[in-house]
Amino acid sequence: MEHPENDSKYLGLTVNSGVVQPPSVNPYFRRGRRKPLPEAGELVEGILKGDVMMLSRAVTLVESTAPEHYARAQEVIEKCLPYSGNSRRIGLTGVPGAGKSTSIDVFGLHVLKTPGARLAVLAIDPSSERSKGSILGDKTRMEKLSTHPGAFIRPSPSAGSLGGVARKTRETIVLCEAAGYNNIFVETVGVGQSETAVHSMVDFFLLIQVAGTGDELQGIKRGIMEMADGIVINKADGDNIGPTQLAQAQFRSALQLFPPAPSGWKPEVLTYSGYFELGIPEVWDMIDRYFAFVRENGYFDRRRREQARFWMYETIDEQLRNHFYNDPDIAANLVRLESDVESHRRSSFTAAKNILDRYFKTLDK
Ligand code: GDP
Repeated sequence: MEHPENDSKYLGLTVNSGVVQPPSVNPYFRRGRRKPLPEAGELVEGILKGDVMMLSRAVTLVESTAPEHYARAQEVIEKCLPYSGNSRRIGLTGVPGAGKSTSIDVFGLHVLKTPGARLAVLAIDPSSERSKGSILGDKTRMEKLSTHPGAFIRPSPSAGSLGGVARKTRETIVLCEAAGYNNIFVETVGVGQSETAVHSMVDFFLLIQVAGTGDELQGIKRGIMEMADGIVINKADGDNIGPTQLAQAQFRSALQLFPPAPSGWKPEVLTYSGYFELGIPEVWDMIDRYFAFVRENGYFDRRRREQARFWMYETIDEQLRNHFYNDPDIAANLVRLESDVESHRRSSFTAAKNILDRYFKTLDK
């Protein structure tokens, strides 16, 4: 008997049989095993139809570090390439707290007001690991945008070398464009090398700043300012309006000392408030004017051609490095050489030559 209490000797007491728990809440969920990713043809077909699920799965494939996924990912990218390119690619950077998520949310909604507009928001954050919660591109950070049917938000590929993370994002741009996203935002934290990576894959680079620390230009790397096609100072609201205007003046005069940009465009400095949604159309008017300007003078196409070339070399570099460092024999010998070099038994130069000779010999076999 299932419940002894239900025996007739226990008068007045019955126990109902419980609800049978299913063996797993989600029968499709199996620990450590995922649904296999579809074949390249199926993915491409889905992407071209604008199927968001297929796009997501293709991005997962591109981001995968599993060697067996590499060829399939490349096939998907190659097949999408003819359908890509038709978008405005905009990079956004700013230090944590500058208001990137708040701003992307309102900028995104503004962009999506144009009939036919669709927007993909991607991120490059080499420090993030998805399992620990990516700090960038997280859907919860862009509340309004994340529920908009015209927006596709994808967090940064999980941690890896900057080159690797950036390549994956660039490849994801191709897939998004093939799926019909005609506006691409690529977000990055304004603290280091990742700006250069973002700059190498966008048409317009927007630097988001905040006022308030006195010397506004302090701490901003000259290189980052030089890359910016537009500088916008956020949080121009309430008591902060004065300081933002001061910062605007400082940025304007600092920019005058810079050599002219290769685009011929003079970067503009504007103030706005992402939170209170003030000055948003003005920021986008500037970006529209930029696109009209560089399409007219041919710089738009030139920059894209240069970027394509740049990424070819980046990929060659990355593949060469991977091939070298992933060789078990090389890895074992490197450990030995490291200690030789550290203890001055060998010079760095001869150690490098030794291991490279060894590597080139393995290629001859
Ligand atoms: P992120 O780290 O660059 O993505 O910055 P967040 O968008 O998360 O914003 C950081 C903080 O600044 C949050 O507390 C926001 O509410 C606040 N913030 C963002 N934009 C504005 C703005 O325009 N005005 C004011 N006063 N606060 C803002």
